[in-house]
Amino acid sequence: MDFSLTEEQEAIRRAVADVCARFPDQYWREVDAAGAYPDDFVAALTEGGWLSILIPEEYGGAGLGMTEAAIVLEEINRSGGNGAACHAQMYTMGTLLRHGSEEQKRRYLPEIAQGKLRLQAFAVTEPTTGSDTTRLTTRAERRGDRYVVRGQKTFISRVRQSDLMLLLARTTPLEEVEDRTMGMSVFLVDLREVGGGLEVRPLEVMVNHHTCELFLDGLELPAESLVGEEGMGFRYILDGMNAERILVASEAIGDGRWFVERGARYASEREVFGRKIGANQGVQFPLAQAHAELEAASLLRFQAATLFDQGRPCGPQANMAKLLASQASWHAANACMTAHGGYGFAREYDVERKFREAKLLEIAPVSNNMILAYIGQRVLGMPRSY
Ligand SMILES: Cc1cc2nc3c(=O)[nH]c(=O)nc-3n(C[C@H](O)[C@H](O)[C@H](O)COP(=O)(O)OP(=O)(O)OC[C@H]3O[C@@H](n4cnc5c(N)ncnc54)[C@H](O)[C@@H]3O)c2cc1C
Repeated sequence: MDFSLTEEQEAIRRAVADVCARFPDQYWREVDAAGAYPDDFVAALTEGGWLSILIPEEYGGAGLGMTEAAIVLEEINRSGGNGAACHAQMYTMGTLLRHGSEEQKRRYLPEIAQGKLRLQAFAVTEPTTGSDTTRLTTRAERRGDRYVVRGQKTFISRVRQSDLMLLLARTTPLEEVEDRTMGMSVFLVDLREVGGGLEVRPLEVMVNHHTCELFLDGLELPAESLVGEEGMGFRYILDGMNAERILVASEAIGDGRWFVERGARYASEREVFGRKIGANQGVQFPLAQAHAELEAASLLRFQAATLFDQGRPCGPQANMAKLLASQASWHAANACMTAHGGYGFAREYDVERKFREAKLLEIAPVSNNMILAYIGQRVLGMPRSY
């Protein structure tokens, strides 16, 4: 049992930290305040090859594993930045890699690896069905050499900052399938070629995620947009979930480490009642507690990533890592905010921005209740609630 990173993994961490150092607090504060997309940061990461590390070498990527991807995203969030700006490229890439045709992979992956194309959007969530994905109502009907799509999606991040979008839609109505997880399909939508039938409306939320509502009204997609087999889409999405959980956990751990570092530093400098506030256990212990929780979540996350890279089952570890990491990060966020007192609310300290961002990871891309249901039902064998 060896818990240390390899020299190469340490080098990756340092290299990503060096890129992030060029984008200090003020950069992220301004991007957040303006609701802007961090183009320069994403360009710098792309240039360094960090966004394509999961793409195999034969398609122009670095062909590295989940452990290395986890290190990259943790370091971005630990620096004070937000990996969400570009994480979809790692989260969603797996669907294309594992289930896309050779033609799709040759057509898109090399350009994605070079940063010429962005695959940043993934459209699953719908307003009326939420976490109950198998009941989604967006329909894609085959008409000759095309599919015609009608329905609505909500909270879809970065559609306007993306060239490509993965879309999950029903190709066989729910009433006609025996197993409700069947009959859904994934499409790789080339947003540059969309002629009509797609309206994108920005949806204001409390984090800078460029979320949008999508109104699909007769959107025509060439049949070649289908990824893998028709009807298997939900299975493909499930396949990618372990990777997603590990990567979300890594972003949460990065956030948590940022909060603990900033909280401990501030508590060691600020003096009230004639002593450093960090000497008070009411300030010190929550930060210490959060640090311990983050270390534990990090070990579980690396265990999950190692199993993933070895091609072994890692569902329980990946889910538990996501749960514990997002909780630890939220505890760290609260400890840091409390340590800062009123200054935690002042934009110039960046705590309130990271606080908003950290909360999201308990809820999206999957809520912790769904993770607990997975652990309770799939790991512990208790009865299903849905
Ligand atoms: C900033 C942001 C960005 C997002 N980006 C994307 C994106 O790019 N693509 C995309 O497809 N989606 C995206 N989402 C959507 C996100 O994945 C969903 O919000 C999330 O999955 C929860 O779905 P919901 O909001 O419909 O909640 P609901 O499903 O309505 O659930 C509400 C609450 O009830 C709980 N709940 C529901 N059923 C049960 C149950 N059986 N047992 C216990 N608890 C239950 C849930 O856990 C949750 O806490 C984004 C959301 C946000 C806020």
